[in-house]
Amino acid sequence: MAVKLSGSPELPRVERIRSLLGLVLIRSMKLTKSFGDSRSILLKCGFCSFKREGELAKIAYSAPKSTISLAEGMPNEETFPFTEISVKLCDGSSFTLDDDELAAALQYIPTQGYPPLLQALREFQRRAHAPPLWESRDIVVVSGSQDGLSKALEAIIGTGDPILVPDPFYPGVEVVISPHKAELIMIPQDDDGPIPEILRETLRNRELSGGKMPKLMYINATGTNPTGIIIPLERRKEIYRIACKYNFLLLDDDPYHFMHFDKEEPKSFLSLDMEGRVIRLDSFSKVISSGIRIGFMTAAAPLIACIELHLQSSHLHAPTLSQVIMHKLFKVWGYEGLMQHYMRLRRYYKERRDVISTLAHKHLNGLAEFNVPRGGFFLWIKVPGIKDTWKMMQRGVTEGVIMVPGAAFMRNPTKCSNAIRASFTKASYEEMDLAMERLAQLIRVELAE
Ligand code: PMP
Repeated sequence: MAVKLSGSPELPRVERIRSLLGLVLIRSMKLTKSFGDSRSILLKCGFCSFKREGELAKIAYSAPKSTISLAEGMPNEETFPFTEISVKLCDGSSFTLDDDELAAALQYIPTQGYPPLLQALREFQRRAHAPPLWESRDIVVVSGSQDGLSKALEAIIGTGDPILVPDPFYPGVEVVISPHKAELIMIPQDDDGPIPEILRETLRNRELSGGKMPKLMYINATGTNPTGIIIPLERRKEIYRIACKYNFLLLDDDPYHFMHFDKEEPKSFLSLDMEGRVIRLDSFSKVISSGIRIGFMTAAAPLIACIELHLQSSHLHAPTLSQVIMHKLFKVWGYEGLMQHYMRLRRYYKERRDVISTLAHKHLNGLAEFNVPRGGFFLWIKVPGIKDTWKMMQRGVTEGVIMVPGAAFMRNPTKCSNAIRASFTKASYEEMDLAMERLAQLIRVELAE
């Protein structure tokens, strides 16, 4: 059945997707369907009053200036000790927040985000990904990808629910789901990401054996942490087709989307999504500043409404000052300016990627294997002669080199235990040279033992 969301075009099969989320509850405001025992039960207690408070905050925020609001429990801005906030940019230009921006920056705002920033982000997503059925989707500002990741997982995953994850995968997922005792279904990867044949086979076998089917697959499609791969378009389409067939959501955690080193811009899962089953996470952490703690989630509007409530219950909203500064940057640079900035970053990190690859080649030849990363921040090195790099990398600390052992990126010891993740973002070229030399020495000693 196709359901029309208010004021928006039809999102085919949205009802099927909604059944994954229990979103009937969100839209009808009645406890007609249980969320199961996931963290999102938070929505059951205090749900209605808190949701109403959030909606009231939105109304009050956008009311005409002539409206006298005695509604919100906001402190008076006159009491804040700041009178001016200015920002200097690397190109020598600068901006100062005007009175309205300053007042907004220091205050509470509606949970979904600073409205002018939300507007800019909607325009940005439309231009960057041209998502089909755009009017059926929405955006919520979060405090970085990790925040978005945890909110989405907590809202969707219930105790014992299975979720699909590529093996190896970003450990920020596991910390969120372990309290829920979620079952991780690990999908092996090759140099192009999760292998579709194995994914399909795994799901088929589960279905045949009457096993609980996963509601969601976690994906980190571009410049994957830790392997540095980019899932090619054909494989993305294949994974998406499988998601449609087996009715699960795709959570695309894509903070390195603009940090790819290929000529072609990767086509995101969001841009392929005809059914509203992609939850896309963007972050300004890698491309503007990690300390600004701003990211944004794009998904089907009912899911965003659910996440908004979840955010409201945890920290009301992402930091306003950061949101206002980010919006100002959008205004000053525009879409083109931001893209030019991303292009500069790509050149910067690509050079570093090239240097560390050359140095790894120089020192690790015959000792270790690696692929030149196609995006992201990491070189993934495999040492065939070593079963588990954990002990070796502990020794590394006393030998003056720190890298992350591969076991940190997987649940159970697998073939990746022989891997190491080396970041190429901050070390000087001399330090990279020394680090690779020290790693080679560590490997030699380990192999000799
Ligand atoms: N997802 C991935 C794949 C990451 O590598 C990181 C950062 N290491 C995050 C999420 C968290 O990023 P943020 O600063 O946006 O929360």
